[in-house]
Amino acid sequence: MMPFRFSRATSDASAIEAAANGAVFLAGGTTLVDLMRDHVEQPAALIDINRLPHRQIELTAGRLKIGALARMSDVAADPKVKTAYPVIAESLLAGASAQLRNMASIGGNLMQRTRCTYFRDPGSACNKREPGSGCPARIGEHRIHAIFGGSDNCIATHASDLTVALVALDAVVNVRGRSGERSFPLHELYRLPGATPHQEHTLSADELIVSLEIPAGAYTSRSHYLKIRDRESYEFALVSAAVAIHVEGGVILSARLAAGGVGTVPWRLHGAEHALVGQHAGERAWRIAADLSVDGALPLPKNAYKVELLRRTVFRALEQVGGSA
Ligand code: SF4
Repeated sequence: MMPFRFSRATSDASAIEAAANGAVFLAGGTTLVDLMRDHVEQPAALIDINRLPHRQIELTAGRLKIGALARMSDVAADPKVKTAYPVIAESLLAGASAQLRNMASIGGNLMQRTRCTYFRDPGSACNKREPGSGCPARIGEHRIHAIFGGSDNCIATHASDLTVALVALDAVVNVRGRSGERSFPLHELYRLPGATPHQEHTLSADELIVSLEIPAGAYTSRSHYLKIRDRESYEFALVSAAVAIHVEGGVILSARLAAGGVGTVPWRLHGAEHALVGQHAGERAWRIAADLSVDGALPLPKNAYKVELLRRTVFRALEQVGGSA
């Protein structure tokens, strides 16, 4: 690991100032320290933000608010989250290992880097790590790569489970920087790779994520996260689905769906959502939504299996929250 400077922030302002001068925020460190050890990231300075007061988990009538420094394990275990937003608790428990969840922060989870093996190997070319060097995954090993949102320059998937649930539920992210505070839909945090896969998000260097807000809907309590992976724990998604539906009198009144493991960003399934509304809850509706969920997929030879796997994952997730009548 390369030498670096280390300091602790005592206030948001001091953290923001340090970041504006080139320091990188350190929270749980569960991604960043690995990347530093592997020489993928080599920041000259770290600013430890763990003492900042952003660990709240608050539920009011209209929303759930989660501080960016709340730990994954604390949010997953919170009775309010488990009852009112099961898809969030389930997505957290599906990620990482118990030890990592105890360390990893919610804000860090949002900002985690891809698991593409070429990206994590400094001996390989990779446009995301070294712009212009190429993307060996396209003609090489791309079994775990994206079928949505890719470009000739990068097809790496977004690694987070939590963000799939949050994007489905229209979460809003609150950030603070030298020019003040702003809030925006979480899906606007992420950039598609296009010609610049090294530019992954829309934050300025000095902007600190302080919290997330997830609106309550009639669908949030009837929600589920289903993750399909090569082994049952401590593994990233091949395909996942976050689903939430509101059903009254057997009719679907609203639906929220997103997929993970398939997109270069957390992938919202708007077409499938719209098709569900007004349908009778049951197998026919789940089948229609599952078929629409793969619209626009652009698989490569070794990840073509994800198309059918996504279809089946969406169907099964909907069946689990909505029944099979
Ligand atoms: Fe790098 Fe993206 Fe290609 Fe992976 S898919 S090698 S992260 S450019």
